[in-house]
Amino acid sequence: MLVWPDGSGVGVWVMRGDSSPEQMATVADQLQDAEVEALAAASRSAVWPECPLHPNSHPLCAVVRDGAAVWTCKVTGEVIALIGALGH
Ligand SMILES: [Zn+2]
Repeated sequence: MLVWPDGSGVGVWVMRGDSSPEQMATVADQLQDAEVEALAAASRSAVWPECPLHPNSHPLCAVVRDGAAVWTCKVTGEVIALIGALGH
């Protein structure tokens, strides 16, 4: 469960039968949705996490690639980083 300072919240779920990378990508996708909504509500840029290849354009996509949960550019499909490793 994600809970914001104003007391609102949203549930986060995974499918028990999914692999760990699939579960990680599912959680990252839900966190992204919640963060984008929160940023928009705060009148801030709702592009999160921002694609480093296309600044001010689009957010990254959480997917499973070659057995790992990764952030990818949705334009080129390029893997940007393992989920949890952005900025490292
Ligand atoms: Zn991109």
